[in-house]
Amino acid sequence: MAVRFLIIGGGPAGNTAATFAARLGADVVMVERELVGGAAHLLDCIPSKTMIATGGAMTFSRRLHGMGLEEVETEVDVEALTERIEAIKSHLGNNTTQLLESQGVRIVRGSARFTSAHSVTVEGTEGAQSIDFDACLIATGSRPRIPDWVQPDGDRILTTRDCYPPRVFPSSVCVIGSGVTGVEFVHMFSSFGAKVTLVVSRQQVLPGKDPEVAAVLEDDFLRRGVSLLKGARAKSIERTDDGVVVKCDDGREVRASHAVLAIGSVPNSEDLGLDAAGVQVDGGGYIPINHHCITNVEHIYAAGDVSGKLPLSSVASMQGRKVAEHVMGLHTREHRHLDYDKAASAIFTEPEIADVGLAEAEAFASGRKIRVTKVPFSATPKALINNDSRGFVKIISDPATGVVLGGSIVGRHAAELISVIALAVTANLKVTDIVESLLVHPALSEALAEAAE
Ligand SMILES: Cc1cc2nc3c(=O)[nH]c(=O)nc-3n(C[C@H](O)[C@H](O)[C@H](O)COP(=O)(O)OP(=O)(O)OC[C@H]3O[C@@H](n4cnc5c(N)ncnc54)[C@H](O)[C@@H]3O)c2cc1C
Repeated sequence: MAVRFLIIGGGPAGNTAATFAARLGADVVMVERELVGGAAHLLDCIPSKTMIATGGAMTFSRRLHGMGLEEVETEVDVEALTERIEAIKSHLGNNTTQLLESQGVRIVRGSARFTSAHSVTVEGTEGAQSIDFDACLIATGSRPRIPDWVQPDGDRILTTRDCYPPRVFPSSVCVIGSGVTGVEFVHMFSSFGAKVTLVVSRQQVLPGKDPEVAAVLEDDFLRRGVSLLKGARAKSIERTDDGVVVKCDDGREVRASHAVLAIGSVPNSEDLGLDAAGVQVDGGGYIPINHHCITNVEHIYAAGDVSGKLPLSSVASMQGRKVAEHVMGLHTREHRHLDYDKAASAIFTEPEIADVGLAEAEAFASGRKIRVTKVPFSATPKALINNDSRGFVKIISDPATGVVLGGSIVGRHAAELISVIALAVTANLKVTDIVESLLVHPALSEALAEAAE
C-alpha cells in the first residue's frame, strides 16, 4: 500500500513536498486553511517583490536623463498596482494548485489539528473530517511579530502584510526594524516617493551583514533622503488625525502618515494540537528538527519557517523536497543533506544585495585563512552601459586549494548573479572554474570572472 503522507500547509515547503512525494508514489493529502501557495505567494515574498519591482521602475525612470533620454514623471496608479499584485498572486496560486492536482495530490481546505500521533481533524467549510497518516509534514509557516507595545490597525499602523498596497498610499512612512524586511520596505516606499524614516536599533542597518555591504545601502538611503535613526528603539506608536507619532526610547519622535512594523516573525505552531501528537516546540514556538527535518516524533517532519531554520522560501522548498525523499526512503541513496550554510539569499533593495556561503567577518572571527578578491562594477562595461555602476562583487576562496567558499554581490541583478557563486560553493568548484568559463560580453557577470582571477 502507498505511504499515506499528510502535509499541513500549502506554502513552498508544503507544496514542494507534496509534488515530489506524489511523483515518488505516495498517497498525498495537503491541508491548507487559506490559499495554496502559502504566505509566500499571498502575503509576503511575492507581493512585496511585486511592489518593489513597480517602485524600481519609478526609480529607473528618474535616472533616464543619464541614458540620453528626457526624464519622465511617473505616478502610482494604486488601483492598477493592486490589480497587478492580485493577478500575479492568483496566477501563481492557480498554477500551484493545478500542478498539485495533476500529480494526484488531494487538497483539503481547512485548519488541521492533531488528535493523535497518526491522525488530524480538519475543520473546513464542509464541516469536520478526520484524516489518518503514516507520515506527516508540518509546514504551517509564520506570521509577523507584533510587539506588546502597539496594536496594528491595518490603516496607519501596519504590519508588512497590510502594505500591498496600503488603503491610503503613504506620503511619509516610519519603518521600524532594519533587518532584511525593514530595509526592503524602506526601499519600496522611498522608490514610490514617500519620505521614509528608518528606526535602526543598532549602529548599522542589516545587523549581522558585512559592514561594507551595509554601508553601500546606507549611502544609497541617505542619498535618497531617507532618515536613519540609529541606536533608537521604538517604544510606542500613537494615532493622530492624519497619521502616526512613533516615540523612541531615547526621546526622539517621528511623525509620519504611516508606520510599518518589520520586526521579525513568529511560528504558526500554537493551534496545531502538537501535544496530542507528542511533538515538541522550543521556547519560541519553533519545532526543532534534525538534518532530515524530522521532529522528536520519528514519522512527523517540520519544514519551512515553522522549523526555525532560515526563513526563506527557497530553503522551505528545498526542505520540502528533502522531506519527500526521506518519507519515500530515498535518503539511503545519494541523499545530500541540506547545508543551510550554503543557502544563497538576496535583499531586494537598490542596489540589490546577495550573498552565499562563508562571510569575510565570519572567517576572520574563526581565524580561518581566506583569500578575498573584490571588483567594483564601475570597472565593468555593462554597468556603465546600464548607467548604474554602484556596488561590487566579492569572492572568498581557500588560499591553499582555490575552492570557492562564499561571496557577496552588491549591485544591479545581484540576486541573479549570485547563482554562479552559489553553484561554485555547492559543487566545491575552484576560482579557476569561474575564470575559465567563457562568459558573455558585455555582461555584469564579467565582474565575477574578474573577481575570481
Ligand atoms: C515581507 C516578506 C518578504 C519575503 N521575501 C522573501 C524573498 O524575497 N525570498 C525568500 O526566499 N523568502 C522571502 N520571505 C520569506 C518567505 O515568505 C517564507 O520563508 C516562506 O513563506 C516560508 O514558507 P513556508 O512553506 O514555511 O510557509 P508559508 O508560506 O507561510 O505557508 C504556510 C501555509 O500554512 C497554512 N497553515 C498554517 N496553519 C495551518 C493549519 N493549522 N491548517 C492548514 N493550513 C495551515 C497557511 O495558511 C499558509 O498558507 C519573505 C517574508 C516576508 C515576511
